[in-house]
Amino acid sequence: MFENLQDKLDRAFKVLKGQGSITEINVAETMKEIRKALLDADVNYKTAKTFTDEVKVKALGQNVLTSVSPGQLLTKIMNDELAELMGGTATELNLTTNPTVILIAGLNGAGKTTFSGKLANYLKTQKGRKPLLVAGDVYRPAAITQLQVLGEQTGIPVYANLESKDPIAIAMEGIAEAKRNGNNVVILDTAGRLAIDEEMMNEIAAVKANAKPDEILFVVDAMTGQDAVNTAKAFNDRLDFTGVVLTKLDGDTRGGAALSIKSVVNKPIKFIGTGEKMEALDVFYPDRMASRILG
Ligand code: GDP
Repeated sequence: MFENLQDKLDRAFKVLKGQGSITEINVAETMKEIRKALLDADVNYKTAKTFTDEVKVKALGQNVLTSVSPGQLLTKIMNDELAELMGGTATELNLTTNPTVILIAGLNGAGKTTFSGKLANYLKTQKGRKPLLVAGDVYRPAAITQLQVLGEQTGIPVYANLESKDPIAIAMEGIAEAKRNGNNVVILDTAGRLAIDEEMMNEIAAVKANAKPDEILFVVDAMTGQDAVNTAKAFNDRLDFTGVVLTKLDGDTRGGAALSIKSVVNKPIKFIGTGEKMEALDVFYPDRMASRILG
């Protein structure tokens, strides 16, 4: 139902024009349609409502109703407004310190380990950095192996300590190792859980307090819809993260979670994951995501 939103709007406006009585009420009806479409794209209700209210004011202000192609103009207004709500422009990582410490947080299965590998690869190949990956998931030996495999694939060193079950110690050892070896970025992969729990939050908060990361990136599966928003809020309340990574956008989700998360936690989305391969990582561009959400 989300295909060709613009055509749909053009049709809706044609009908309105044909009636010869274009009123604010007609516009309100159209906004209702748009709101429905946004909800279908996983945008939460409050965000969709604020958005359509703002678009309505702009649409009336810009004489959409009397323009030659109201659907097209309205789509442009919506696109611009959506992009603005998602931050307007792309937000860069803060890489000014040496070594820059980046903490990766999120639930199990969100794509943290995969993203850690992708990020290291991106920083190496696109930004000319010398990253070190640190395997901090002490509960899942498989996660450590997974990171080591990704490190081998991308030619990036991985620090692991299979003897230790202490994520804080491992993080600090990793940072020391980076300083010794001249790595200017340290990426700390951490343990996730199936759901948010107090113990996990305490543990990652302790890693933050000790490792003092320059960036804390919260990784979340875009396919999880409203849950993604709730998880983002819980992590942000505890960690005050610096950016969001939306993964699995190669699936058939519209990516409305991007808009909802930004509006709920007000933190920039910095990257999107678009596949399992190490190259499947993109910088987040709000205008591109706006077009995707609008379909
Ligand atoms: P973690 O538990 O948070 O470390 O999650 P993983 O990195 O192990 O990822 C969980 C699963 O999701 C793995 O099968 C990954 O290959 C897959 N995955 C991660 N990112 C993406 C993505 O952007 N697109 C797709 N399609 N799969 C992804």
